Amino acid sequence: MISTYIGLGSNLDQPQEQVLRALDELDCIPESWLGNISSLYASPPMGPRNQPDYVNAVAQLYTRLEPLELLDALQSIEQAHQRVRGERWGARTLDLDLLLYGDEIIHEERLVVPHPGISRRLFVLSPLAEIAPDLQLPGLGSLQSLVNACSQQAVRKIQ
Ligand code: ATP
Ligand code: MG
Ligand code: MG
Repeated sequence: MISTYIGLGSNLDQPQEQVLRALDELDCIPESWLGNISSLYASPPMGPRNQPDYVNAVAQLYTRLEPLELLDALQSIEQAHQRVRGERWGARTLDLDLLLYGDEIIHEERLVVPHPGISRRLFVLSPLAEIAPDLQLPGLGSLQSLVNACSQQAVRKIQ
């Protein structure tokens, strides 16, 4: 069994409900079991500014699925939330990113792990640090040092 971390984000159609429902759906992925779950966080949009703030969270998921099988499962949950892919980093009902898959480093066409944005995004690092403060990220050093380097970004815990 592998410990993975999933980043959740939503800024459309009742974002908090979207994220809470997605947590239940993660728990229903075959061969997989939800571990620790962070609080919900609010953050300003990355990329295009003309969109609502985001609700973010991070969940630990233990799985026996292979990385691409897990990505497929995450993408089918996104589709069940009527996610429409428009402009890059545009508004969305649900984004599920595979942040970490054990301590593996993966570079495939459909999947890069650790997630390429992880080290620059406090809206991912803060919830991750809440549930796994002592984590070391493969190739990236300690989670705490990454958090410190992003500490000027605006992210606030909402519940
Ligand atoms: P970002 O990846 O910068 O957070 P995004 O989440 O908005 O942006 P998406 O539209 O959700 O991007 O995903 C675009 C593609 O990224 C997907 O089709 C998927 O194959 C690929 N991808 C690569 N690595 C990952 C990963 N670690 N987790 C999720 N998707 C990934
Ligand atoms: Mg994303
Ligand atoms: Mg994504």
